[in-house]
Amino acid sequence: MLPSSPPVLPPSPPILPPSPLRLRLDAAALAANWLALDRLSGAARAGAAVKADAYGLGAAQVVPVLAGAGCRDWFVAHWREVPDVIAHVAPEQVAVLHGPLDHADVAFARATGVRPVLNSLAQAARWLDGGGGACHIMVDTGINRLGLAMADLSDPVLARLDVDLCISHLASADEDVAQNAEQLARFESAKGMVRARRYSLANSAGIALGSAYHADLTRPGIALYGGIARKELAGVVRRVATPEAAVIQVRDVAAGDRVGYNATFVAPRAMRLGVVALGYADGYLRCWSNRGALCRDGVRLPVTGRVSMDLTVIDLSAAPDVREGDWLAVDYDLPQAAAQSGLSQYELLTLLHRRFARFT
Ligand SMILES: *Cc1c(COP(=O)(O)O)cnc(C)c1O
Repeated sequence: MLPSSPPVLPPSPPILPPSPLRLRLDAAALAANWLALDRLSGAARAGAAVKADAYGLGAAQVVPVLAGAGCRDWFVAHWREVPDVIAHVAPEQVAVLHGPLDHADVAFARATGVRPVLNSLAQAARWLDGGGGACHIMVDTGINRLGLAMADLSDPVLARLDVDLCISHLASADEDVAQNAEQLARFESAKGMVRARRYSLANSAGIALGSAYHADLTRPGIALYGGIARKELAGVVRRVATPEAAVIQVRDVAAGDRVGYNATFVAPRAMRLGVVALGYADGYLRCWSNRGALCRDGVRLPVTGRVSMDLTVIDLSAAPDVREGDWLAVDYDLPQAAAQSGLSQYELLTLLHRRFARFT
């Protein structure tokens, strides 16, 4: 008798190796930041701006944590950002800031149940044409970005809307300038002209301007994610995100050896260097060349030479026992990194690229 041949198994799918980049999210700090901002908002509730994939940190990680903390109002910019949010929360809690740009957006809003923020009389008419329903409106009180002009507010089309939130946005809440009070005064007069269930003005910095700015709902973004939008928030908001990169090669160089593109670093002595899988394609921009650092247990390991697309070289002199495969934290304290780089805290977060594995 012939031996039976072994069964032919389908090939198992290849296992995708893990990323040498990860973004560590401190879920407890994120939840604590929302609670602190909600408390600072006084009688108003805090919502959350989760546009741009929750400022680059990952809506899939951020939204469930904030929902668990008690957040019930979510703001995205684009319609295509909606699915990542309504995977975790009720659609009627989600507002799309850019509003319906065409009938496809209206149809999408009505099919999903998310709410458009109407920014013009044309958007209001488009929403009503498509069947309407609960919506939000944005009033421009002086930023001259999106929103209905004050002069539009008496238009009869607005009286036909079922407005949940009437919102406006502060241009300079991070500064002590007269523009804040001017916008607040216009917002107060807008309140008298637009019937809405709730009103909302303040972003993160606006929360720190005091109760006059709080209305019914505040809309923090950057402060949830550890950004210090005004100095009053410094003791209140905790750091949330730490980018980490793996060392993929360790090398010893001699005095006089040149490092990286265009040899902008020349070793002053024999030294040990580490090559990490992090570059400007990941959002670690060239401004960190010869300037940034990675850290191990709080020890600073300075960047040597140019940051390139996928790689950065660091000086391991202060941690000569670092081995290939070790993880190092990027020195990325937001206010300090902003001061050093000239980038805003917003840019520093939203730059962090998809190659970072995101986890809490
Ligand atoms: C981005 C945004 C926010 C959040 O602003 P932060 O400064 O990050 O707190 C609030 N409201 C609107 C309309 C926004 O576009």
